[in-house]
Amino acid sequence: MQTNQTLPNGDLVVPDNYKYIECYLTLRCQLACGFCINVINEDDDHKRRNSEGIRNNDVFKDKRFGELSAEEWIAAINRIKTRPGVPVTLGGGEPFVHPGFIEIVNGINRDKEIDILTNLRWGQRGLERFANEVDPARLRRDAPYASIRVSYHPNEPGMEPLSIAKDVKYLQERGFSIGVWSVLFPSPAQLTAINQFQFIAKEQGIDFRLKEFVGIYEGKDDLNKPFAITYGDYSKYPGAAFSRSGFKYADCKTTELLVGPSGKVYRCHTDLYDGKRDVGSLLDIDFKIEDKFRPCSIYGRCNPCDVKVKTDHRQQIGHTSVEIKNVGQA
Ligand code: SF4
Ligand code: SF4
Repeated sequence: MQTNQTLPNGDLVVPDNYKYIECYLTLRCQLACGFCINVINEDDDHKRRNSEGIRNNDVFKDKRFGELSAEEWIAAINRIKTRPGVPVTLGGGEPFVHPGFIEIVNGINRDKEIDILTNLRWGQRGLERFANEVDPARLRRDAPYASIRVSYHPNEPGMEPLSIAKDVKYLQERGFSIGVWSVLFPSPAQLTAINQFQFIAKEQGIDFRLKEFVGIYEGKDDLNKPFAITYGDYSKYPGAAFSRSGFKYADCKTTELLVGPSGKVYRCHTDLYDGKRDVGSLLDIDFKIEDKFRPCSIYGRCNPCDVKVKTDHRQQIGHTSVEIKNVGQA
């Protein structure tokens, strides 16, 4: 998105109880993983496509949301003022697809902690350019996990385990803090590939971790009978995710700053991926992040990531990304 307006400045203070900040530089991606959550609410046909392995490329190639330029992203992110230990995560889609990705990494003030979520399908030239132009110290911080977190998608073209390991080692040997994460998507192909990569990672000294799959997995048993299993604990807010109709009113408050490709800020992942119901924009000089409940009329369409029960930073179970109250009939 190109604008002639003055770039915003002035601090944008993130409330102290916020636990996560992500700037989705783009929602485009070179891959089209069946379990990608970016389309889980938009696409009623998503589960069938998961189980049948039908690709989502059309969804990921479009530019529905418009994208800030590198200059705009840098100005916007440099406004974000947060407590130490809560970095700004650059993600997507695949953030490397943004033409100004390296410029953005280098343009963000050094006093801001940044992490990157990526599929690392950058190609040798992309890897070399990144390693030559970005200072590894810029992406190193005091945290129990790597700053560059590579998502492992072994069943996608060009993402074979040995090829991922080679690319990760390349950046690791150039001094970057990098690790690989895999979603425990329960398809036989994914589980086999995870098992295989555990050996490769151990042998090559790669930090490899697993992440719970959230959502509904539909598969077929050995007799070709269909089955469906819900993964994740959603008991705190019953009926919040996976409903197809009969949505309800509720009041909702988040603990995450989610910024979409056009700089707009959303209440939750459902709104972000829909590209609707933003609460403001990082480009708006008057915008303030307000820690308050907001009315919502689509309780039932919540993204599983927002309502899944997880542990907090003190390892206490019961935390969800959003807090919801006053659930009633729409
Ligand atoms: S790499 Fe990530 S963003 Fe891209 S399709 Fe796969 S899960 Fe979605
Ligand atoms: S109730 Fe669900 S859909 Fe509504 S704002 Fe909260 S998380 Fe989003």
